Amino acid sequence: MPSQVVNARIRGFICLNAHPGGCAANVSGQVDAVGRVLAQAGGAHARVGDVLVIGSSTGYGLSSLITTVFGYGARAVGVCLERAPQGDKTASAGWYNLAAVHRLARAAGRPVTTFNGDAYSRAIKDQVIQHLKASGARLDSVVYSLASPKRTDPATGVSWTSVLKPLGAPYRSKSISLGSDQITEVELAPASDADVEATRKVMGGEDWELWLSALLEAGVLAPGCRTVAYSYIGPELTYPIYRSGTIGKAKEHLEATARALHARLADQLGGAAYVSVNKAVTTQASSAIPVVPLYISILYQIMKAKGTHEGTAEQIARLYRDHLAPGRMPTLDADGRIRLDDREMDPATQSAVAALWPQITSENLFQLTDYAGFKQEFRALFGFEVPGIDYAQPVETDLAI
Ligand code: NAD
Repeated sequence: MPSQVVNARIRGFICLNAHPGGCAANVSGQVDAVGRVLAQAGGAHARVGDVLVIGSSTGYGLSSLITTVFGYGARAVGVCLERAPQGDKTASAGWYNLAAVHRLARAAGRPVTTFNGDAYSRAIKDQVIQHLKASGARLDSVVYSLASPKRTDPATGVSWTSVLKPLGAPYRSKSISLGSDQITEVELAPASDADVEATRKVMGGEDWELWLSALLEAGVLAPGCRTVAYSYIGPELTYPIYRSGTIGKAKEHLEATARALHARLADQLGGAAYVSVNKAVTTQASSAIPVVPLYISILYQIMKAKGTHEGTAEQIARLYRDHLAPGRMPTLDADGRIRLDDREMDPATQSAVAALWPQITSENLFQLTDYAGFKQEFRALFGFEVPGIDYAQPVETDLAI
């Protein structure tokens, strides 16, 4: 069992290793954050029975696992794609997050089962279904929270790669170079039709629909089962790269899939399917989108000052508390979506973002925005710069999930 000192190895928006102690502290912090949000509702919470979280190891999916298991006493199954430790090489952050979740859940008497493999494949769907049948589980809640650059279509064997590009015209914007902490100008060439289709194949609703069809056919969904997938809209400032770009087209497909799934689940089980539009937060997926780290740095500055800032745990605890907990009917917008981005999209917050945006330069980046907070949060995603951790001490890196 190697015990070693682990120092961060960061290249731009990628961190090549992870710190197990920092990841465990993050998980405990999220359990506490969920407890605080649910306490605002007062009183005891209804239990959620069985849950499946697809994309359970980081970001919004990890918070969905933590909220349902520790906030609502659920028995959970998770699916993720993470790197196990190998000799002196650390595991990925998601692996260590789940090692901590498993440990805390066992101690609380609510075991979590994780399937580490390609969620897009038929093989993982079959393994999950086999496990659900063997354990007598009937899913009350299915969370779909995948963010992936690639998908191999199980029906055709064709592999698709998603891209983050504008549609129609090139998009020029200021952005942060995460390697040098400088404001730079980025220019992104417009997507081809093939790019739009590939991004829809990876990040649209096709695989969510395949999961629900397989679970429905296998008879492992409970009456009244509700499924939710996550989307993003954001301000007009980021429309060219997000909502009006290739990823936005894929999200439109995800939202159309929710409507079709909703009708099917309502008809067959008295169930429901929703899209929840969540707030912009620092995750491995969002840090890789050009322009978004700058937007997040400005947004955090304003939302923290107003006291409206939330991370993934606060968002998902609020999702269940106010919309998806047993007995609650979600509040929907005119297009049938749950809106957890209400505080981000608050007009006063957005006009403050728009006013700051043109003023930001390399010289005032740290002073006028919360870029320091973004950087700290980015490193913390991998277990680094987490308060209370002594990084000079060796830690056990060969952890199992
Ligand atoms: P993330 O990168 O933190 O998490 C992605 C998860 O998907 C991880 O658990 C990873 O292991 C899993 N995964 C990726 N490829 C997989 C595969 N082939 N098989 C199995 N698991 C796989 O991402 P995130 O930012 O939390 O995004 C999750 C969802 O939330 C996405 O739909 C995203 O668009 C949405 N969302 C994100 C934000 C944001 O600001 N980050 C805002 C609103 C909505």
